[in-house]
Amino acid sequence: MRRVDVVTMDKIVSLCKRRGFVFPSSEIYGGLGSSYDYGHYGVLLKNNVKDQWWRAMLRERDDIVALDSAIIQHPETWRASGHVASFTDPLVDCRTCKLRFRADKLEDAQCGRKPSKHPGETPECDLTEARDFNLLFETTIGPVKDEGSVAFLRPETAQGIFLNFRHYLQFARKKPPFGIAQIGKSFRNEITTGNFIFRTREFEQMEMEYFVPPAEAEKWFTHWLDERRGWYLKLGIRDDHLRLRPHDHEELSHYSSATSDVEYLFPIGWQELEGIANRGDFDLTQHAKHSGQKLEYVDTASGERYIPHVIEPAAGVDRCVLAFLADAYEEDEIEGEQRTVLRLHPLLAPVKVAVLPLVRRDGQPELAREAYEQLRGHVQAEYDEGGAIGRRYRRQDEIGTPWAVTIDGQSLEDRTVTLRDRDSLKQVRLPIDGLGEELARRLREPWQSPKQD
Ligand code: ATP
Repeated sequence: MRRVDVVTMDKIVSLCKRRGFVFPSSEIYGGLGSSYDYGHYGVLLKNNVKDQWWRAMLRERDDIVALDSAIIQHPETWRASGHVASFTDPLVDCRTCKLRFRADKLEDAQCGRKPSKHPGETPECDLTEARDFNLLFETTIGPVKDEGSVAFLRPETAQGIFLNFRHYLQFARKKPPFGIAQIGKSFRNEITTGNFIFRTREFEQMEMEYFVPPAEAEKWFTHWLDERRGWYLKLGIRDDHLRLRPHDHEELSHYSSATSDVEYLFPIGWQELEGIANRGDFDLTQHAKHSGQKLEYVDTASGERYIPHVIEPAAGVDRCVLAFLADAYEEDEIEGEQRTVLRLHPLLAPVKVAVLPLVRRDGQPELAREAYEQLRGHVQAEYDEGGAIGRRYRRQDEIGTPWAVTIDGQSLEDRTVTLRDRDSLKQVRLPIDGLGEELARRLREPWQSPKQD
């Protein structure tokens, strides 16, 4: 077997469309720039990513609880959080091309000179001075559109957590350190979008606010850097494609005293996957000021009171999906035949097992359906009887299915099947009965990307 690591963004976009992971949105109307719809396998993959995040936050710990807050919150939320005043990116116009760009992403050092450089430039290009552009998505509430009805679609899920903080103190009797986690859609009126699902105006975030006694903030910041890096590695991301990059002082957001990004080496270079920030007491203090409510922890036994500091790991679901796809994508050659394979961690793979009768006769489809029905009680399974067996294997390889079960002539005699492994291509013979338990067991085993060695 000859391996070629040739992943490009175009190849991922094309695979995603061909195999029903992600489609450009509104295509029959000519598309809507940088909006995407997730198809069947995309939904399964995305759900698995979110499920693994919930698992790490909720099931494997007992200090974090869940929340699902509203997308449209009281507009004062965004004045208090600083988003109305400072959630901006620097915007420049090109007087010649009439195009707009984000000044700080103009292929890094290529901006700031006149005539400036930008994608698609001509020698006459001429950029304006940068001005601040606010990324908040405005909407209006109710039937009358006037100043009083203006509201915002949330640009991050975090503020919903701060608004609900006191419920968790009162009803869940939480005492710092503890965390509140949520996954949901966020909206940003980005100046430039692009690189497929990497940067869009509507996207999903997985955010957790970890409330700690002020003196413990640094310790927990380090803890969450390690935890989050470990999460990606456990899910198979290659070590040499992942790094932590601390922000320098000028780069820090208005609320943050320290931030490190988890970065992945995408086909377009090193880019942020997740930001881990020490937000201090900024958000709770601001909301307390704007709402007139006390947002502090009071220890009823000792009388101690303080505004907790907050450590926030904030990741993008769509960016994670893209990173997992890029890390998994491979083309190889088996016996002279080219195949594309997604070497996804089995826990992330949209389908865990495909059940394939070798031929469509002699009772094989019936037995295959029986095996399929047993297996789908344990894991996401797919039944496929159409076309040559080699072609069916390739189809499953392309969507990253780690195992294929084939029913053949011998299966009808002794109720055994072959189990094919996507990566090693090894086939072993196993009894049909107990196969579901066997796959569930294999799913729990540690896994390392075969691209790693
Ligand atoms: P960037 O510098 O790329 O604009 P950011 O630092 O503004 O990102 P955060 O506010 O830290 O992003 O948001 C946390 C995470 O949400 C990011 O790490 C990213 O994974 C995701 N995210 C942010 N903006 C977008 C977007 N426009 N499209 C897709 N995902 C996004």
